[in-house]
Amino acid sequence: MDLNNKRVLVVGLGRSGVASALFLKQRGAQVTVSDSKPQEQLGEEIPVLLDHGIAVETGGHGERTFHGQDLIVVSPGVPVDSPPLVQARALGEPVIGEIELAAQFLPKNIVAITGSNGKTTTTTLTGEIIAAGGYATHVGGNIGTPAVSLVDAARPDSIIVLEVSSFQLETIQIFRPKVAVVLNVTPDHLDRHRTFETYVDAKARIFENQQADDFAVLNGDDPVCVELAGRTPAQVFWFSRKKEVQQGTFVRDGRILFRDSAGQKEVTLASEIPLKGAHNLENSLAAVCVGVLMKCVPERIRAAVHKFKAVEHRLEYVATIRGVEYYNDSKATNVDATIKALESFPANIHLILGGKDKGSDYTVLNDLLRERVKYVYTIGAAAAKIESQIKEAAETVHAESLDNAVQRASANAQPGDIVLLAPACASFDQFRNYEHRGKVFKELVHGLARKETV
Ligand code: ADP
Repeated sequence: MDLNNKRVLVVGLGRSGVASALFLKQRGAQVTVSDSKPQEQLGEEIPVLLDHGIAVETGGHGERTFHGQDLIVVSPGVPVDSPPLVQARALGEPVIGEIELAAQFLPKNIVAITGSNGKTTTTTLTGEIIAAGGYATHVGGNIGTPAVSLVDAARPDSIIVLEVSSFQLETIQIFRPKVAVVLNVTPDHLDRHRTFETYVDAKARIFENQQADDFAVLNGDDPVCVELAGRTPAQVFWFSRKKEVQQGTFVRDGRILFRDSAGQKEVTLASEIPLKGAHNLENSLAAVCVGVLMKCVPERIRAAVHKFKAVEHRLEYVATIRGVEYYNDSKATNVDATIKALESFPANIHLILGGKDKGSDYTVLNDLLRERVKYVYTIGAAAAKIESQIKEAAETVHAESLDNAVQRASANAQPGDIVLLAPACASFDQFRNYEHRGKVFKELVHGLARKETV
């Protein structure tokens, strides 16, 4: 892709938008960035962009901003069906996302990982497995470092491990992962994708450019993944924690095995996975499968799995106070992730639920609430909806704030109990993002711990 002197518009000034703008400018493009938010709400990057000679428009898009562009690079936060983008496409202006932009420049060994839940954990672990296997490894995408920011450091033989979201997949063109991983597909982001079918279709685009010598790694226990297998021309490898598979990874007598047409080999032991919960066994099986497909030797994969630590805000252990364990799963922003968190502890859970609703059905939590939860503490804008949907299944404390929820939970909890923040909602009603919510939770818990010790 020749960007020299091309007129390029970057829409949306998130982390990937800023990185794209600088990347494009560095390659000689005439770059404009445009964001509907007012300048005060945007980061400190604006002066940096201006210093690089990038034109910046904030507080809305001008009528002519989208006209006459050679290329439009859109951030994942901007809906692809927003009117200016629909219009631009009608005018023949290509609209791509940052992942697609990066794909035009990245080496060909790309592992792309998507799914409704578990992407960050699996991407991080996969990156560590491949690095342990001795390859030059670069990890990024939705996980933090934008994919375009990996281009300069990557060598032709590097392996690029990318977390990709459904929004990023909506704007690809030639993006072709050597290995495409789909961990699971459960309802999420229906506020943006509208129907489950369009959400599944967005995820399926990960296979769009794959060929017969590529691999798809899919969850054999997930019915949507099973259907998706028919939508890739690549060789399908499965991972399953419930059954043995013909090709891929599975568990037999506590041993994690990989099998393909050449036979089977033991890679590691399930008991050596240091993460809590059955869902993390699934994530580990997926990552191990990718590791073997990328030709990492079992001993190295095993060592990487063994020393892996939970990623912050993903069922992260915080502290034990008066015999009560506190876990931060702020990243559980949908009901499925909350179900997985509840399944990780057998009983005596004090669960903090709530935040900004994403159109979810909370009644699916009810069986687990009955079985394992002592009290639910509701917070945030979704509290009333949640309370009405779970009232038959759990005793509920209307806590309003996270601070109050932690205080009430700590007052009720007995030694041996678990206090779990796994809110099943987005955070934007009371917090900047889920990281902020998780950090506040951890500070509150550490505050309790300090009080206990004085
Ligand atoms: P993502 O990047 O897809 O959001 P994370 O690894 O950040 O995934 O985990 C998000 C949330 O989902 C966390 O609450 C975590 O405990 C939970 N989770 C992780 N892996 C899975 C999985 N395989 N299935 C369901 N939930 C999961």
